[in-house]
Amino acid sequence: MIRVEGLTAGYGGIVAIDRLSLSIAPGQMVAVIGANGAGKTTLVNTIAGLVPAMAGAVKLDDVALTNLPASEVARRGVLLVPEGRRILGPLTVEENLRLGHLAARSRGGSRVADMERVFALFPLLRERRQQAAGRLSGGQQQMLAIGRALMGRPQVLLLDEPSLGLAPVVVAQVFAALHTLHQDGLSILLIEQNARRALELAEYAYVMERGRFVRHGPSAELRQDETIVSYYLGIERTAVPGLARQEGTHAR
Ligand code: ATP
Repeated sequence: MIRVEGLTAGYGGIVAIDRLSLSIAPGQMVAVIGANGAGKTTLVNTIAGLVPAMAGAVKLDDVALTNLPASEVARRGVLLVPEGRRILGPLTVEENLRLGHLAARSRGGSRVADMERVFALFPLLRERRQQAAGRLSGGQQQMLAIGRALMGRPQVLLLDEPSLGLAPVVVAQVFAALHTLHQDGLSILLIEQNARRALELAEYAYVMERGRFVRHGPSAELRQDETIVSYYLGIERTAVPGLARQEGTHAR
């Protein structure tokens, strides 16, 4: 069980997330939806140890992770698939996956077996295992970023906008993989602007505005909420990369 309690963080004294609390039970998938700049990335980056917390706590099974170095948070089993993927382009697919295993090294387990599981989820990565990761398509790079995090044997997987900039058919593939991981019992925190898909996939969701959670509840309930429907689900998201950022504040 991962718990976030009153988590507050920001940049240069400016608060970007303000006293956020949430929890993810074992095997649960929780989504955070919200417009550009709401603070979603700051939330996951603070959980992952990449942004320092100004107040509050992150606890995994009641053990505090707050303000541990990011590498240590990963070693404890909280693995981030960052926005923009951040795969290492000059390295091969397999080398990227091996690097992902470093987070799991102290917890034992077979790297070969873990890699087989990633290849079972994303068969294309097996075919391309000797290829430079930078030559993969955007969708394949997203699969590799997820695979790399899985190599770290997550107890909790944090995903920051895995659908960003991908064509709808590829988004469907990535979300199908997340569904499989969820079915297999992995705990997942999914950050998404693609509110429609996020609310289909996760069983519970939080709506974020200007660094605060303004609503939360079972996804099925939020899908019935007229304000959320008109504001977050009213306009289908376009798959044109970068357009979302230029358009300003409304989520799709
Ligand atoms: P997006 O969908 O654009 O990634 P988001 O919901 O993830 O949005 P954040 O990226 O967490 O939002 O940004 C929250 C606020 O913090 C915004 O006002 C943003 O401008 C600000 N911010 C984010 N990163 C930094 C940074 N490195 N330095 C200063 N301010 C930042």
